[in-house]
Amino acid sequence: MPIVTSTAHEQATAEELEAVFKGRAPGYVYARIGNPTVTAFERQAAVLEDGLGALACASGMSAVSATLILLAGGDAEIIASPAIFGGTRYLLTRTLPPLGIRTHWVDMHDYTAVEKAITPATRAIFTETIGNPAMTVADLDRLAEIAARHGLLLIADNTVTPYICRPKDHGAHIIIHSASKFINGHGTAIGGLIVDCGTFDWTSKRYAHMHEWVEKFRHFAFLAALRQQVQRDLGACLSPFNAALLITGMESLPVRMERCCANTAQLAAWLDARTDVQVVNYPGLPAHPDYAIADKITNGRFGALLAIRLGTRERCFKFINALKIFRNVANLGDARSLIVHPASTIARDLDKDNMQSSGVYDDLLRISVGLENVADLINDCTAAFAAAE
Ligand SMILES: *Cc1c(COP(=O)(O)O)cnc(C)c1O
Repeated sequence: MPIVTSTAHEQATAEELEAVFKGRAPGYVYARIGNPTVTAFERQAAVLEDGLGALACASGMSAVSATLILLAGGDAEIIASPAIFGGTRYLLTRTLPPLGIRTHWVDMHDYTAVEKAITPATRAIFTETIGNPAMTVADLDRLAEIAARHGLLLIADNTVTPYICRPKDHGAHIIIHSASKFINGHGTAIGGLIVDCGTFDWTSKRYAHMHEWVEKFRHFAFLAALRQQVQRDLGACLSPFNAALLITGMESLPVRMERCCANTAQLAAWLDARTDVQVVNYPGLPAHPDYAIADKITNGRFGALLAIRLGTRERCFKFINALKIFRNVANLGDARSLIVHPASTIARDLDKDNMQSSGVYDDLLRISVGLENVADLINDCTAAFAAAE
């Protein structure tokens, strides 16, 4: 796919430019609103998730914030689990409340509590497919059932399970990705995606501010409002250079996911058999409380993330420092295996209670398993455990 770097696109006549502006003729106007390279990436994403269409954003965070700002319409409540990505948690606790968007924090396994938290102001149930590092797995089908009873939208952040989980098949209406992770796969570009599955009835009375968009754009209402209002006004568009890197990454996504998941299953089983690893938190172990849900939503692939507890922070640090193949990086979803100590890095701004509800402990390590030969990964861990004695 060529990288089109033009900021603006010329039309032959004033009439033609007017027609493109009005959406009457196909074409591009200004790269904040649309760009051919970015469009190619959006089409790929819509296919991946079997969606009606997609909007690419500058990052996963801008995808989450654009979605929630559009849905809220200025005064609203969101229902979300505390065991979600730290950035989203900060967005919901710090940045959105002054804009009139409040969050009810609910354990997504407590279906009575989820339903009880719904009020006339609720605009969405927001969940991640597998929240890390707590490794809690959302039963999307059950949440979708609750959402349907209340004419409410179910949003799934599918960042950690692209390709192995298709949230639309389990009733989610809107799917969000940080494309910076598995979709890119090589740590080369930040990007985000919002996919509309095209399955939600926007005439629901909860979304009165969307009705004018429905009149004009029918089932494309959400995508039209996202692009022509939120993206235009907030401006967090994806760079065409990043779109090109993400397109290349997406092409190998299925093969990478299969291999990363298979490696993770083997590494988890090996770690679980060691007596010097206190906890192995991986939903593919039959003893995991969410094993059956994970089996269902990931078609038996269980993802490529796991968390382990080693007893003390000191032992975690020694283990990280002795590893040669795993990289000590605050990222996930890479071709290379990555390891991080969340309590001292990505979760360090959380207080103690919030840390625990996010599944973060002082002796916990998060591992994102890559494409390497799994025997090499196991040998690397063996040597690092010896060094961390
Ligand atoms: C990383 C991540 C995000 C944020 O994405 P960025 O591209 O880093 O802005 C959102 N949700 C989840 C689950 C993530 O892992």
